[in-house]
Amino acid sequence: MAVPAPSFVSRDPFPSAPIALYSNSFLEIHRPSSRASTIFGQKLESEETEQTHLRLSTVLRSNSGLTLKASREPAGLTKQLRNGKFETELKKTDECDLFDDLKYRFLIFKRQKYMENSKHFQDLAKGQAPKFMVIACADSRVCPSNILGFQPGEAFMLRNIANLVPPFENGPSETNAALEFSVNFLKVENVLVIGHSRCGGIQALMSMPDDENSSSFIRNWVVIGKNARIRTEAAASNLCFDQQCRHCEKESINNSLSNLLTYPWIEEKVAKGELFLHGGYYDFIDCTFEKWTLDYRGRAKEENAIIAVKDRSFWW
Ligand SMILES: [Zn+2]
Repeated sequence: MAVPAPSFVSRDPFPSAPIALYSNSFLEIHRPSSRASTIFGQKLESEETEQTHLRLSTVLRSNSGLTLKASREPAGLTKQLRNGKFETELKKTDECDLFDDLKYRFLIFKRQKYMENSKHFQDLAKGQAPKFMVIACADSRVCPSNILGFQPGEAFMLRNIANLVPPFENGPSETNAALEFSVNFLKVENVLVIGHSRCGGIQALMSMPDDENSSSFIRNWVVIGKNARIRTEAAASNLCFDQQCRHCEKESINNSLSNLLTYPWIEEKVAKGELFLHGGYYDFIDCTFEKWTLDYRGRAKEENAIIAVKDRSFWW
């Protein structure tokens, strides 16, 4: 026999409140009736997602929900709150502020970019034709869209630890899946690998023991750049560890460019002049950017081969 659920239990963990109560006065939120977006050809109903986000923001914005919940709990919980649970409450308040900030930024984006360029975004809803595939580090200080001004639709973006590209023979990964899609289907004309200063992934690569057997996901990933480490140790062994890491950060970019050529469909397009491979190095300590382009001279079959580059420029 089915037990009826208590009346206060809702399937919706974020009970909805009138949005108008919490909307910023400068911009009213108009919830679309049945808008759908397309990602890789698969339709996603955005209405449900948007409602969830709005409800999340709504609940987090108001502390009244937290107070109400506490008042419904047994007296023991109230005692715990008084004796030390305030940290939890404060943490929730911090989360509230964080999501309030995100909501505010999103609404700024919507008003100042989306709505003022609605034609552009309507075109993007039909498809994308970016000129760039960008591979950058996942480091929170390195955001290609921020530092290079990529706008929606301009760059197919992939970010991983230390902006590494595994060689073709390593088998499938999210990195080469993104490469296959961008190169073969979107037909991007440029692949730009962006490294950066103070890269933790490169530090991990440079400091890991020679014995590569490890259960660490990080070590098993950064070992992809082992050739860059070998070249760094050969060329810069007289330098201190930090300087070796700076050297390896750039060597690793070239190692990724070299690995890109191990993909037959990439090498073929590069050889035909249909695809160009570029390296970029962002130094966020003095805010400079160095850019170069791989000078394709036939496939470098030898392991550890040094690639030729051209069109090097320094932006400062
Ligand atoms: Zn990094």
